[in-house]
Amino acid sequence: MNISEIFGVNVFSVSVMKERLPKKVFAEVTDVMENGGQISMATADVVANAMKDWAVEKGATHYTHWFQPLTGSTAEKHDSFITYPKDGKTLLQLSGKQLIMGEPDASSFPSGGLRATSYARGYTAWDITSPAFVKESGCGVILCIPTVFISYTGEALDKKTPLLRSMEALSTQAIRIVRLFGNTTAKKVTAFVGPEQEYFLVDREKYLKRKDLVYAGRTLFGAPAPKGQELDDHYFGQIRERIGAYMKDLDVELWKLGITATTQHNEVAPAQHELAPIYSTANVAVDQNQLTMETMKRVATRHGLVCLLNEKPYAGINGSGKHNNWSIGTDEGENLFEPGDEPIHNLQFLLVLSCVLAAVDDHADLLRESAADVGNDHRLGAQEAPPAIISIFLGDQLDEVVNQILKGSEDATAADAALDTGVSTVPVLRKDATDRNRTSPFAFTGNKFEFRMVGSRDSIASPNTALNAVLAEAFCNAADALEGAEDFETACKAYIKESISKHKRIIFNGDGYSDAWVEEAARRGLPNIKSMVDAIPVLVQDDVVDMYEKFNIFTRAELASRVEVQYETYAKTINIEANAMIHMASKAYIPAVVAYSGDLANTVAALEAVDADASVQKDLLNQVNVLLKQAASALADLECKLPQVNSMDSMGAMAHAFHDTIVPCMAALRAPIDELELLVDQDVWPMYSYGDLLFEV
Ligand code: ADP
Ligand code: MG
Repeated sequence: MNISEIFGVNVFSVSVMKERLPKKVFAEVTDVMENGGQISMATADVVANAMKDWAVEKGATHYTHWFQPLTGSTAEKHDSFITYPKDGKTLLQLSGKQLIMGEPDASSFPSGGLRATSYARGYTAWDITSPAFVKESGCGVILCIPTVFISYTGEALDKKTPLLRSMEALSTQAIRIVRLFGNTTAKKVTAFVGPEQEYFLVDREKYLKRKDLVYAGRTLFGAPAPKGQELDDHYFGQIRERIGAYMKDLDVELWKLGITATTQHNEVAPAQHELAPIYSTANVAVDQNQLTMETMKRVATRHGLVCLLNEKPYAGINGSGKHNNWSIGTDEGENLFEPGDEPIHNLQFLLVLSCVLAAVDDHADLLRESAADVGNDHRLGAQEAPPAIISIFLGDQLDEVVNQILKGSEDATAADAALDTGVSTVPVLRKDATDRNRTSPFAFTGNKFEFRMVGSRDSIASPNTALNAVLAEAFCNAADALEGAEDFETACKAYIKESISKHKRIIFNGDGYSDAWVEEAARRGLPNIKSMVDAIPVLVQDDVVDMYEKFNIFTRAELASRVEVQYETYAKTINIEANAMIHMASKAYIPAVVAYSGDLANTVAALEAVDADASVQKDLLNQVNVLLKQAASALADLECKLPQVNSMDSMGAMAHAFHDTIVPCMAALRAPIDELELLVDQDVWPMYSYGDLLFEV
């Protein structure tokens, strides 16, 4: 296979446009892509026609505006290219108007009250900065046009619009910063993102028999297998044939879509894997991550597998996250997070760094919220996931720089050092100035920050919107303070020192998984928001609303709508999980245990009838009965409380009640059944075990 021949064949990329559009039209389009603004309707007609011809050559029959509603996934409604037949023949058409705007009815998407039924119109509008592409699936070939999704009154009904707004805000404020340092030529600053995606694979036949996986995407019952991940033998382990074939097929599909899938490996948990692309602009990364997740699932079915993206498919072993690598750079190619050889003398870098510290410290709660997801509640603070507390890991070199600044000294610091392996035939390596710290939720890794809290299933739009926004605010504050300073260098150094002293509590280089850190963080006054329901209200806190409104990223109404939608998502998700548990317990587990205990009782009676020793059987029967009773009463409790919680009128109260009341009831039902799994004859157990699911893929 020659990657360069298939890479991007399904993308209407800049080079395809260059080939297919008249010079003038191409110039207008690329100018708007780079500098913003609108294309004329005449231009839109030409682009649409070229796009349609290109897609039809690829076999496309339909087009769709492809958007990202607040459900966190993507939405599409297909329309064919055909027009009203003339003389029994149809012409294929895509007009400029159809390209740039659509009005899908789409009134069933969550809007959190932004679309009263009487104003139910919602519009999609072409995002010219994300390339169109064709998607091959069971539906045939569909031309997908990435769009934003807004209401009749212009409010964002999607995840993409605020992200694009945040990118513009960050660019505007970051340009003010580079101007302070004499850069008069950069036109914009862009946020770049490289998301590392973790996932589990499970055999499809087994999956279909586990109703919890089918309905909830994660196991709601299941005793631990004899072996877990304790040997660390899966991490970076040899990739099995079946999984390798899947990965290969997945890569090809992603490459065709212009997605730079590059790194793949086995992750820590059995049956867990990771895929990372090369980073791209934040909005393209968001689109491509959605497509990656979708393609992962689609390709899995071809291999008799199912791809699980839930953050915690199995209890007791690692969950899955998404490491959101984030940096910002000018259109001239300068990465503003690049410390250079001597960071202590790189004043621009130090100002940027101090702004990141301020941004993350001021809005730690918002960043935590941006990674809140129902499944992530099981992960943050649990196995192999950073705690729910936001802190920044800087590494030795920058930590030293920060200390020097606080001391008022400017000694050169630990730069890269040579690493001697003691083996003469191995090349002398340069040691990175930052080591890794897997336990930090927000780690500086050389020339980017890695936000590790994000959930595996979640869209990365919200975290990146928040990151861009908080940094835009910190840049704005710095620029306000320093523009027009008489002695810029002195003023800038003073600003950096003051900002670092004020926000140094956010820096933590130690073990983020330790209990000691939880206590220390509390002493430092850092927020520790443990669940999604507690994180949601941060969105409408005054400081958050003020910031988002100031930079035109969200209005108060848009934020309030997101609060509603998130509460609703939480409540509905837990409701589905609880219902799935009730279903499984009453239809599968309890009947199996009842039958098993009946068999045991018969055995006991038979043994006693012939005066044989039945003590072992009796003992087992007693244990089974005790647990069965616990399970039955936990089931009754859950069945009784679920309708009560569901009848509450306020979404917020309901979501909290699901968290405070239903989640503990679910745990109470799971515990005895998982214990029974270890007691009851495996031949009568009605469900595949963790061992079957994790080790027989
Ligand atoms: P790690 O050391 O965490 O494995 P990698 O260098 O493999 O990091 O990169 C992980 C992800 O970070 C990849 O998607 C990569 O493209 C992305 N990445 C690398 N440099 C940057 C950058 N400057 N900005 C944003 N993402 C980046
Ligand atoms: Mg990484």
